[in-house]
Amino acid sequence: MRNNDWYMREDDDEFGEALHRRTEELYSVPDATPDEDGLIECPVLPLRDLVVFPRMVSPIFVGRETSLLAIEDAQLNDQTVIALTQRDAEVDEPGPQDFLLVGVEMAVGRMLSMPDDSSSALVQGRRRVEVVEFIQVEPFIKVRARPVYETMEVDRQTDATMRTALELFQKCVNLDRSLPEEAYLYALNLEEPGWLADMIVTAIAPPLEERQEMLVAVDPMDRLRRVIHMLAREADVLELEDQIHTRAQSEVDRSQREFYLREQMKAIQTELGEGDMWSRELQELHTRIESASLPEEVQVRALKEMERLGQMPPMSPEVGIIRTYLEWILELPWIQTTDDNLDVSHAAEVLERDHFGLPRAKERVLEYIAVRSLKPKRLRQPILCFIGPPGTGKTSLGRSIAEALGRKFVRLSLGGVRDEAEIRGHRRTYIGALPGRILQTMRRSGTINPLFMLDEIDKLGQDFRGDPAAAMLEVLDPEQNHAFSDHYLELPYDLSRVMFITTANNASTIPAALLDRMELIDFPGYIEEEKLQIAMRFLLPRQLEENGLEEHEVRLTEKALQRAIREYTYEAGVRNLEREIGRICRKIARMKAEGRRYPNMVGAAAVERFLGPPQFFNMEAELQNEVGVATAVAWTETGGEIMPVEVLLLDGKGNLQITGQIGNVMQESAQAALSYLKSRTDTFDIDRDLYDQVDIHIHIPEGAIPKDGPSAGITIATALVSAFTGREVYREVGMTGEITLRGRVLPVGGVREKVLAAYRAGLRTVIMPKRNMKDLIDVPKRARSEMKIVPVEHMDQVLEIALAPAAPKIKAKRMARSKAAKEGDEQEIVSIPVENNVEKLRSRPTQTPDIRPPA
Ligand code: ADP
Repeated sequence: MRNNDWYMREDDDEFGEALHRRTEELYSVPDATPDEDGLIECPVLPLRDLVVFPRMVSPIFVGRETSLLAIEDAQLNDQTVIALTQRDAEVDEPGPQDFLLVGVEMAVGRMLSMPDDSSSALVQGRRRVEVVEFIQVEPFIKVRARPVYETMEVDRQTDATMRTALELFQKCVNLDRSLPEEAYLYALNLEEPGWLADMIVTAIAPPLEERQEMLVAVDPMDRLRRVIHMLAREADVLELEDQIHTRAQSEVDRSQREFYLREQMKAIQTELGEGDMWSRELQELHTRIESASLPEEVQVRALKEMERLGQMPPMSPEVGIIRTYLEWILELPWIQTTDDNLDVSHAAEVLERDHFGLPRAKERVLEYIAVRSLKPKRLRQPILCFIGPPGTGKTSLGRSIAEALGRKFVRLSLGGVRDEAEIRGHRRTYIGALPGRILQTMRRSGTINPLFMLDEIDKLGQDFRGDPAAAMLEVLDPEQNHAFSDHYLELPYDLSRVMFITTANNASTIPAALLDRMELIDFPGYIEEEKLQIAMRFLLPRQLEENGLEEHEVRLTEKALQRAIREYTYEAGVRNLEREIGRICRKIARMKAEGRRYPNMVGAAAVERFLGPPQFFNMEAELQNEVGVATAVAWTETGGEIMPVEVLLLDGKGNLQITGQIGNVMQESAQAALSYLKSRTDTFDIDRDLYDQVDIHIHIPEGAIPKDGPSAGITIATALVSAFTGREVYREVGMTGEITLRGRVLPVGGVREKVLAAYRAGLRTVIMPKRNMKDLIDVPKRARSEMKIVPVEHMDQVLEIALAPAAPKIKAKRMARSKAAKEGDEQEIVSIPVENNVEKLRSRPTQTPDIRPPA
């Protein structure tokens, strides 16, 4: 029965021959014949750490006397032995209690003496036996045992299990080089589940304990299942090993390749003389890092990067990345500071010297400095936020504060920043990554305690790329900003000594969380007199100097400046004014440079020569009272605006139409105004039928610009009443206020800017809600004294001031019908048509009126 040929290396050399002979002998030994009780009686071969399975051939080494005697006895009688495995391999003279009670009957071949005095023999397992009794222990052990007969039947379940085992075994054979392919072929031809299990266990040789367990498991299906378990585990391990091996192999290949290329590159570089240059550069960088004043943590990090750099070939793309990083570390201020000058009177002098007016802002800033001088250590002062239209001196005041304190001044505009990475930077893994804008600005400042102005904080955006406002919160929060984290830098950066000041045009669009941390200081805009002062004292001298002119060489008269203000600019601040003055100065400078004659004195008339025809009209002269047109004063980001509201009644069916890019709130406001009007039909002596016979068209010109907010309510109502009653609206009257259905007038926002806008536009009466009177504190006295500001609580009061006395009643009904009938299909305009001199009133550059006032 040559059943495990796969195990034999039957080559046809001498060894093979000998082996062949020895196995032939083995196979010739007969199995022991059972007695009438079905038991066999055999000498015992104790095995220490070996398990021989039935049908398997294996070499064994025999050293112990008792074992040799047992084999001798068996061979004398041409008999098999029973191999019993010791429970504990260390026991030298095992007794009955030391054996597993399931063993294997086996044939033992010829004994060969080994050089170390032990003997070896080939053995062949025959069948499992269960020991029934030990019948002798001296001079060798002998037992009676019952052979285990296994069934040969293979049902579908068994077949499937066998197949699974075979598949797994094949997998293992494929993965494990030490398992010969023949082992699988051999297994493939076995038809008994128990045999298959025993064969596979022998082949994969699991740990001794498991082999013993397999031996004592007499149920073949049980064994097969255990084998499947082992195989699955084995296959997993092998697969993993295989992966690791493959990876390791490719690593080795790659690093060998790299090594080779590097060596080549080195050779080329030395050839070109570049190698030296590189090491010199590295040395230089190293020295710079060592001598730079860096906090320890930063220095450690920099040196680590330096080390990485040193290990790289100079051509590697990473070199550039690391170098840029190191340059950033070297260029950022880490500990450099300027000493604060906290002398309040000095600060007051500087602010006063550089700025006209702005009493409240100056006062607040001085308080701020004073508090700081008393408690210089880490006290928590709110962040100041300068709010106001452009050109009102916010930046310029910030600059002066920096100068007064002796701090560096830096600015960063947050307008349109939507991506958190713009604030915090990109990780270095991004191509072309850089630190965020905060750190870029800090680098410019060169110190860790500059005055840092964050402009346009109200224009901070937000989109899918993260919330920049959250990052800004970290920048401004004294709890967190001592360790600001920038994605690029990857080192905490201390912003706690920076003095932040923010600016905004519109408080209502500042993210709420940021607004919470800030104290708002208003820069409401200037009236003409203030602008004049600013122009004479600051703008003109500066522009002269910038254009290389001496103050005594050129003068602009007050009248000239006034004309520039009135006819060439229309703004709350003085930015455009400064530009116009600059244009005049430039033109004169050019004349001077070309050696032409130039005026020493520029008067009002000469302004036109330099600046061309006026851009804005002085409106007062052109104002006319009109029916159906009232003037609202509105708040915008750039200050205030006046805004005409037109109402036209057309032959129709009582529809209401509103045009001019009007937002929902304003539409509702118009509805409310109309309802108010209808509720007062009798009071105003309006022909009730008129409502069904006309369409009402409300229009707020400059249609492309979106407008919204409730504060035009009383203006719309006034225009409506005027259109329906034919009473003219006094055009020098401007107004603001929300209206309720019952005609009550509610307070609105942005009153200061609105009043200033009305004043600028030459209106002489402003109607406003009574509860807004308190907001007038900041309006310059001059404006207040030259205008009539009328507080109102009810629409009736508004109409009393804004409308001229009653005109003849409009009788729409029959008149309109008969007229329309006479003139065919032509549309009939029922009310007195509005002569459109709105354009005349305001031809201004496009600005963005959003009537919604600041919160
Ligand atoms: P903002 O930052 O509010 O937009 P700026 O500070 O840039 O305005 O002011 C625009 C110009 O007007 C600057 O040249 C500034 O010096 C000047 N300016 C504004 N207000 C004043 C003032 N009250 N006194 C002197 N100059 C002023």
